[in-house]
Amino acid sequence: MKNVGIIYQDIYAKHDTGSHPECADRVTHTIEQLKENQMYGENRIAHFKNIDPKKATLEQIRWSHSNALINKVINAVESTKKRNSHAYIDGDTIASPATYDAALYATGGNFASIDAIFSGEIDRGFVICRPPGHHSNRDYARGFCIFNNIALSVEYLIRAKKLNRVAIIDFDAHAGNGTEELFYSGLPQGELLFISIHQHPHTLYPGTCFVDDIGEGKQKGKIVNITLAPYSGHQSVKLSFDQIILPMLKEFKPEFILCSAGFDAHHNDPLCNLSFIDQTYSYIIQELAKISEEFANGRIQCTLEGGYNIKHLGNSITNVINSLADDKTIFKETDDFSRGQKADILEYTENKLIPQLKAILSPYWKAFK
Ligand SMILES: [Zn+2]
Repeated sequence: MKNVGIIYQDIYAKHDTGSHPECADRVTHTIEQLKENQMYGENRIAHFKNIDPKKATLEQIRWSHSNALINKVINAVESTKKRNSHAYIDGDTIASPATYDAALYATGGNFASIDAIFSGEIDRGFVICRPPGHHSNRDYARGFCIFNNIALSVEYLIRAKKLNRVAIIDFDAHAGNGTEELFYSGLPQGELLFISIHQHPHTLYPGTCFVDDIGEGKQKGKIVNITLAPYSGHQSVKLSFDQIILPMLKEFKPEFILCSAGFDAHHNDPLCNLSFIDQTYSYIIQELAKISEEFANGRIQCTLEGGYNIKHLGNSITNVINSLADDKTIFKETDDFSRGQKADILEYTENKLIPQLKAILSPYWKAFK
């Protein structure tokens, strides 16, 4: 078994969004389920480690964000304290009095997990943080997100841990547009492979990140958008991994794998329509774990993004954590067409989407020549 760090603190639940899908119950309910499953708290099984986040510094937040964004968040939070009500940072991103601190601890939780992996205290980590991050770019906090935790984790790995090659797999149903925009021209130092597998942007927020958006300059070919049609289901994910994601990772040889771990692609999610099932999430982590063993000293870290079925989120996260531990015990559902997957959509993935991706990426990857 691998030692898996679960990074959480009550501050993540204090980012109060009221009656909003991205609410505190997402993490409090999940932590309760993890306690029942003996993964968190006093009665946890020995290979699960509970780690406290630390607070990211402003200097670190500025690696990915402008002072204008930071000041907007601070001012929104100050106004909530004065008026004793919520403030809107964008149309659907809400601030409350604890939001700024929660956001600093969300990013800092990712740093704490990375530190624990590098010190050998844990092998892999899952940061159960809020607010999420993958829609935020340099200047805009948006789409329920404040600071881009995964982008800042890349910066931390390259700047503080001196790594050269980091891969991000973003499996939230929404495209990781903020992450893409931050890294579209690449990093000054180090290399990043960013793969986002998401519901087609014509059918879902944020409406950007299409297959032919592949980065520019030295990053060209290392931004990858797998735009699954609604009702793609588990088999489309397997095809995408077999045909696109795993060959790219084997060629890229990442030293660290980061996951933007969103769970709103699950068929029970109220906001999205990708029809993933419980074991889709363990499948993804099991495949990434093999890659991490081959190239990255086993290092994988997940950071929580979306996932809005409060009751079901804990099952998906439990599956990911068990898979990070190399434990094959998982919640499993029948893999048939009863979860919304559609046969013609699977055919579209296999015969249109994947060949199109291979053609677009072939100039940059030996695997697709
Ligand atoms: Zn999402």
